Amino acid sequence: MSDHRLREALDTLKDSGVRITPQRHAVLEFLIDSMSHPTADDIYKALESKFPNMSVATVYNNLRVFREIGLVRELTYGDSSSRFDCNTSEHYHAICNNCGKIVDFHYPSLDEVESLAEQVTGFDVSNHRMEVYGICEECKSKH
Ligand SMILES: [Zn+2]
Ligand SMILES: [Zn+2]
Repeated sequence: MSDHRLREALDTLKDSGVRITPQRHAVLEFLIDSMSHPTADDIYKALESKFPNMSVATVYNNLRVFREIGLVRELTYGDSSSRFDCNTSEHYHAICNNCGKIVDFHYPSLDEVESLAEQVTGFDVSNHRMEVYGICEECKSKH
């Protein structure tokens, strides 16, 4: 399954004319395997032993390239560092208040909310983000 997604992602890179370097390949593979919405720093730490010449900035640059061609989504949370999500289908997030873990879940897209918001505010609504917060299963079992 993740092999298939990796192949598809590599095809998207190729089609966009992006050179596939060993680092890019590794960053992409890590993102697809992890499903944990890592930060650039997480990715850097996971791969630094394999690529001693890589810096956090390189990881960021690769992530920016992936974002621009629609392979990943960047999730920003105020001051804390962005998390990267390679699941680009419509989905929502549950976020643990204790450990910060982000877990995907699916729910029929809230189109009515967007159209109501347009009526009420006069905005042209382009998208929305919804998150639920709480304590994850793992943290619950530790208490
Ligand atoms: Zn947790
Ligand atoms: Zn996600």
